[in-house]
Amino acid sequence: MYQKWSIIIVILKGLGMQCIYCKKDKSLSSYQRREHVIPQGFGKVATDNLILRNIVCDDCNKYFGEKIELFLCKDSFEGLERLRHDIKPKAPLKKRRRIKSKVYSGQLKGLIVREKRLAESGRIDVEKSLQAGFYNTQSGEYDYFEPNDIPSAEELSHKGYNLKTKEIAIIAEDGEEYDFIIQHMHSLGITLKSKERTAKHDKITGNIEVEADITIDKIIMRGLCKIAFNYFAFIAGRSFALNQIFDPIRHFILFGEGNGDDFLGINLPPILYDDQKLEKFGAKVTEGHLITIGWNGNKLVSKLSLFNSLTYGVEFCNNFSGVWLPINSGHHFDLKTKEVTELLFLSKHMLP
Ligand SMILES: [Zn+2]
Repeated sequence: MYQKWSIIIVILKGLGMQCIYCKKDKSLSSYQRREHVIPQGFGKVATDNLILRNIVCDDCNKYFGEKIELFLCKDSFEGLERLRHDIKPKAPLKKRRRIKSKVYSGQLKGLIVREKRLAESGRIDVEKSLQAGFYNTQSGEYDYFEPNDIPSAEELSHKGYNLKTKEIAIIAEDGEEYDFIIQHMHSLGITLKSKERTAKHDKITGNIEVEADITIDKIIMRGLCKIAFNYFAFIAGRSFALNQIFDPIRHFILFGEGNGDDFLGINLPPILYDDQKLEKFGAKVTEGHLITIGWNGNKLVSKLSLFNSLTYGVEFCNNFSGVWLPINSGHHFDLKTKEVTELLFLSKHMLP
């Protein structure tokens, strides 16, 4: 007697998990990286708090790290705050496009500088950028330009710069840098007749006042919206975050579709009630990160403030009509203790 065995091979199809950004069904092996609600470039938390697991796929995580967070952490207002808080890694971005810092006054007025690191004095060290300065006959001052921004000789003369009798200031290291800028200017029709017409400033010493022009472009806006959306998924969970009503902001974050102003508001009042009162004295309760999320009618909104500095508002949707999920949450990320704590909400009539 033979007993017949029939073998049934059941191929278990891996249960796919949808990524909250690309919405693709992916297996667990595509979720190896941890997605930090607040990028680690803004400080590492002591415990595994404010981390999304198996919710943001590795492809999206990698894309965000390379194409968005790099600039959000190093080429933004928050990037300067990060330097001020001495958060590592310190290496500055070689080519910053969104921050233009210039010496505010004195002999070096207008000179373009780059913030480097926090010095022992508690101030930020700056270094000179590669640049050329031209004497403006109208203002009686030098204006400086980085290589890509240097106008042609014709444009400079047209705008009232004196190229004939005034020295051109070349700010460059000897060697490669110097040769590069001379050659570049030559291609723009600007020729230096003799070495005497170049000037180099010595190293910047002492305290100087620097004024920074900061551009919040789409990349930075997408980065800020992503922090808020990560937090939303952290609080509300994957399935709610996948609701198609949130597709516009999802596509803005992932593909840059749409207009940033539709999702992000800049310069909101401080998140903490006490900070609203302290603002006029130039003081604040914390220099840590703050983030909240909650409903405002049928709008789902988040408030975000890195280093409790600028406060942004992020709107996820403005006409929600599906199954409503109660969401009202806030967290504080203390940069000194590395602890993340929940914020306590009090209704207004309980406040003094
Ligand atoms: Zn994805």
